[in-house]
Amino acid sequence: MPEHLITDLQNILGINYVLINEDMIPYLTDWRKKFTGKALAVLLPNSTEEIATIVKTCSKASVSIVPQGGHTGFCGGATPDISGKQVILNLKRMNQVRQIDVENQTITIEAGCILQSVQEIAAQQGFLFPLSLGAEGSCMIGGNLATNAGGTNVLRYGNTRDLCLGLEVVTAQGEIWDGLKGLRKDNTGYDLRGLFIGSEGTLGIITAAVMKLYPLPISQWTTLIAASDIPSTIAILNLFQKRATSLLTGFEMMTHESLKLTVKHFPKMANPLKNDPPFTILVELSDHESEDHVRKLLEDILAQAFDDGLVSDAVIATNLSQANTFWQMREHLTLAQAQEGANLKHDITIPLSALSAFILETDALVKKHYPGARILNFGHLGDGNLHYNIAPPEGVDYLAFNMNNEKAIHDLIYEQVEHFGGSISAEHGIGQLKLADLRNHKGAVAHELMKAIKQALDPKNTLNPNKVVSI
Ligand SMILES: Cc1cc2nc3c(=O)[nH]c(=O)nc-3n(C[C@H](O)[C@H](O)[C@H](O)COP(=O)(O)OP(=O)(O)OC[C@H]3O[C@@H](n4cnc5c(N)ncnc54)[C@H](O)[C@@H]3O)c2cc1C
Repeated sequence: MPEHLITDLQNILGINYVLINEDMIPYLTDWRKKFTGKALAVLLPNSTEEIATIVKTCSKASVSIVPQGGHTGFCGGATPDISGKQVILNLKRMNQVRQIDVENQTITIEAGCILQSVQEIAAQQGFLFPLSLGAEGSCMIGGNLATNAGGTNVLRYGNTRDLCLGLEVVTAQGEIWDGLKGLRKDNTGYDLRGLFIGSEGTLGIITAAVMKLYPLPISQWTTLIAASDIPSTIAILNLFQKRATSLLTGFEMMTHESLKLTVKHFPKMANPLKNDPPFTILVELSDHESEDHVRKLLEDILAQAFDDGLVSDAVIATNLSQANTFWQMREHLTLAQAQEGANLKHDITIPLSALSAFILETDALVKKHYPGARILNFGHLGDGNLHYNIAPPEGVDYLAFNMNNEKAIHDLIYEQVEHFGGSISAEHGIGQLKLADLRNHKGAVAHELMKAIKQALDPKNTLNPNKVVSI
């Protein structure tokens, strides 16, 4: 690294926007506190041109760059390595709304916009920006795109990839690709936008995006439903899919074990359903037309589910505040697990048709090999997405349990995932956490293709090296 790199960067950004020494501390550890790295500097640019100049300068100095948004990712993708030779490029100052196009129903935003503020700005204009997840108060749109984030509305609106029409990206060579078109059809060759989405900062730095907006629903009804087993849970999902079709906007599953932990850490999050059922399902229906229609539909579907013996209890939220409380129960599952200790997480998807068999078989294997271990299983079940997390038996130290069992438990679960035709990362990505798992489970041909893409777009390995794939 040339001696004058920090001075060069200060000349580009101004001295206040090149953080060094202890000013870097808040940027060095990930949200789960699983990874802590070191860095030469944290850079805080506020324009695409500044980012392009930084990339050229760092590339010339052979210094690699770790892009960072809200730093809420679960795979250590935005955390530098421990060499102290990388720079962090945090995009929080790139937070302008460039355009709201009412007729095209799109919003053009910079990568550092906080997700929740995008939702609020859209709502002020009468639109829904449907991406929604527990970290929405701090994650940023660039991070959402780079991880192809999912969240609670995927069932109806798709994941971040489905919501994006165009991108502006700084390439590994420091060129600016202006792909900020708000087109719903564009078959002009390779899908560059699709390539950068989900690439976790390894192929380019996303600086702005054109995102889709939708009409705000006028009516939303939320209900909690008790189910006794996983086959009934899937049957309830299929019933809602068949009868509510596109009005079904949320279908989340929470197990008794995971809710028990939530109440331990957040006593106000008690389950309003009777007798703490084995499975609590949160269902949301939304409608753009009539308030009464959706309420009646919800009641009819619930009545059928009771008649079919699928449901033992249900509570419909009577007002917005109660609906928010139901959603908070769901969102506090992650926070409660973080407070309890760093459990072994598996963010997986399984085809819905294989989900029951996967859960029954995998639960049995975990119980057999790790007696007393707690399976803290919950997820966006409508998408086949499970957060299949394993915590030590009550009273056993997390660190010791993880140290002794982490690899074997990951291997067991990922072999099951492969056996049932699933994916080892549903929505959180790969980062540094699952680098080896991707190599083992993606398939040799797919893995080589991914390496070839990285090699072609970033041959000097300047952007987020050793995340997703190593070349
Ligand atoms: C409480 C909680 C709940 C969560 N719930 C969900 C959920 O339901 N669904 C879900 O999908 N995720 C969830 N997450 C994970 C996380 O919030 C998402 O992965 C989110 O999209 C990360 O955004 P970020 O801005 O924090 O990105 P960061 O963590 O800063 O970065 C993530 C990755 O993207 C890269 N990156 C960041 N910005 C850019 C950019 N502008 N250009 C190129 N690369 C970039 C980074 O290098 C890194 O590899 C949750 C996290 C928490 C803490």
